[in-house]
Amino acid sequence: MSAAETAQQHQLFINGQWTEPSSGQYFDVINPATGEIVGKAAIADDSDVTKAIEASHRVFPEWAAKPAAERARTLRKLQQLFLENKDQLARTVSLETGKPLQQALMEVNTCAEYLLWNAEEGRRVYGETIPAGVGNKRLKTIRQPVGPVAAITPWNFPLSMVIRKIAPALAAGCTVVLKPAELTPGSAAQVCRLAEQAGVPAGVLNMVTGNPAQIGNVLLSDKRIRKVTFTGSTPVGKLLLKQAADQVKKVSMELGGHAPFIVFEDADIEKAIAGITQVKFFNCGQTCICPNRIFVQNSIKDKFIALFKEKVQGLKVGNGIEGNVDVGPLINQAGLDKVSRHVEDAVVKGATLVVGGEKLTGENHKDGFFYSPTILSDIKENMLVSTEETFGPVASILTFETEQEVIDKANSVDVGLAAYFFTNDLSRSIRVSEALQYGMVGINDTALAQVEIPFGGVKESGMGREGGPGTLDDFLDLKLIATTI
Ligand code: NAD
Repeated sequence: MSAAETAQQHQLFINGQWTEPSSGQYFDVINPATGEIVGKAAIADDSDVTKAIEASHRVFPEWAAKPAAERARTLRKLQQLFLENKDQLARTVSLETGKPLQQALMEVNTCAEYLLWNAEEGRRVYGETIPAGVGNKRLKTIRQPVGPVAAITPWNFPLSMVIRKIAPALAAGCTVVLKPAELTPGSAAQVCRLAEQAGVPAGVLNMVTGNPAQIGNVLLSDKRIRKVTFTGSTPVGKLLLKQAADQVKKVSMELGGHAPFIVFEDADIEKAIAGITQVKFFNCGQTCICPNRIFVQNSIKDKFIALFKEKVQGLKVGNGIEGNVDVGPLINQAGLDKVSRHVEDAVVKGATLVVGGEKLTGENHKDGFFYSPTILSDIKENMLVSTEETFGPVASILTFETEQEVIDKANSVDVGLAAYFFTNDLSRSIRVSEALQYGMVGINDTALAQVEIPFGGVKESGMGREGGPGTLDDFLDLKLIATTI
């Protein structure tokens, strides 16, 4: 049977019920590696979204009042179900995104870790007692869930972006209306199915799919939604911030990046090459922490490029579900066109094409959005690859002479999510890490997405952190209680 014949239909998930959309309509979900239809997702209208908000609002007091330990038990059950269903979950992710199955499996495991971490952090929502200025007064603070949350997520990590939002929300005592990316609704639907099995009560987690702007308008204009948690592009983040301002909703925003990756002449080049190859081509370069500007000190440029080229030529591009593949396709035609446009612009403006630089159209690639892993050198600041997030398998190499020069160049953009640099000079490692205007800095290290660490950016990369010890902060309000005795 073809994928199209087995394509699953995803209804809306409202108040614990899989619900036919009022419109009766569905849209197709496409596998970007093959062009096949792998699912159909419901198109919600305003009334459907309002019903989801009503459900999240109605059940909120009950969920918020449950002991944190009970909410943690439910999340731990969900974690178990993730582990038990990991192959099925990974398969869905790979079918919807084309990403290598191995990477999809890593994503499922990461979700399990986030579920456990947040479950346990929910049991450590402490308040404070504060010494009062007068003897007959007692002061304390408590932290309470903000209320129903709208969670809007992207397609590049269709499971973990959902879990990084709903796990802390549910652990804190909030309820959720989830709007996953329209390109990957099946992964989100699986989360809802497992949440049902785990015993998440009806209405605590709801899911709506359809027209993003229309759903966004309903969610953002409804007073019952008290918080918006969003991961996606900076332009959409800015729009949501403006909409949230009307009702002063609490917001957390994980937005775009344009990561610098700096290699100093005193670095261990082999380690730097291994790091850049991994973090640049992971998920076909479609990650927010993917290096977009690789700054190599002039004196080591030729050696770096020669070694990097060797590695990149060894990467196997193909349909992720087939296994034994390093790099999958771009997510859609628009993603592929953007990558082509960036490479063409760079070459026209004088960049050197070291390797790659073409859409792949051979037998194994003809029906998907495949692009060859690419290295460009002699990049200038006026090229699109220097100024915009490429979001694809293109490594753009710039050069520099001095430490201060590269710090200034790295900081010259409006966003500030992740930055990386390689050096063996201890003093430099401290100077540069403190000078980089980024939310996360890797020194001789590229693994920044871990449950133990606060993940998030500064400047136009957003606000708020996911993971780490403050993972629940964005879902809690601080309340002061003053008592005269
Ligand atoms: P996107 O902004 O196009 O979409 C993200 C989500 O917003 C999707 O669910 C989409 O349907 C929804 N959306 C789009 N327009 C909307 C509107 N008007 N109102 C309400 N919702 C709307 O981003 P994308 O293409 O899905 O993801 C790629 C972007 O996400 C990149 O810029 C990447 O850097 C960023 N990202 C950031 C992080 C992070 O943690 N900082 C993580 C992953 C991705």
